[in-house]
Amino acid sequence: MIQKKFLLNFSKEVSEQPHIYHLVKDYDLIVNIFRAKITDEAEGFMILEISGEKDALRKGIAYLRDQNVGVGEAEKGVVWDEERCTQCGNCLSHCPTHALRIDDPATMHIIFDAEACIECLACIKNCPYGACTSVF
Ligand code: SF4
Ligand code: SF4
Repeated sequence: MIQKKFLLNFSKEVSEQPHIYHLVKDYDLIVNIFRAKITDEAEGFMILEISGEKDALRKGIAYLRDQNVGVGEAEKGVVWDEERCTQCGNCLSHCPTHALRIDDPATMHIIFDAEACIECLACIKNCPYGACTSVF
């Protein structure tokens, strides 16, 4: 079983198709959607984590590409700029996964763990210094 995070881009031609249904039903994949913005007859995107057997995941991704869905790995959606971070701590209570957290209680130094980030964007709204940004 493997688990990977993806950014899917849907053109307006394919945005109404039940792609996620097919990933689950036809490829036996587990899908966890973190964020999506898709409207009928318009372009959209979705950030999701897909889990399953390696071969099933490979086939599921090939299916999406066959359907003209843009598939990219979503590891760099949120960027934390350590230079801009003043270590104020305002984001900590807003981060649901503790991707932003205190590294060392002695120094109260804050770190960003990209692996733990689910790209909910809460930190962007709650950082007064613009240290957190998103490519989306
Ligand atoms: S985007 Fe969400 S999960 Fe990621 S660091 Fe910011 S608050 Fe935490
Ligand atoms: S709110 Fe912004 S400046 Fe404050 S600790 Fe979090 S990332 Fe750093």
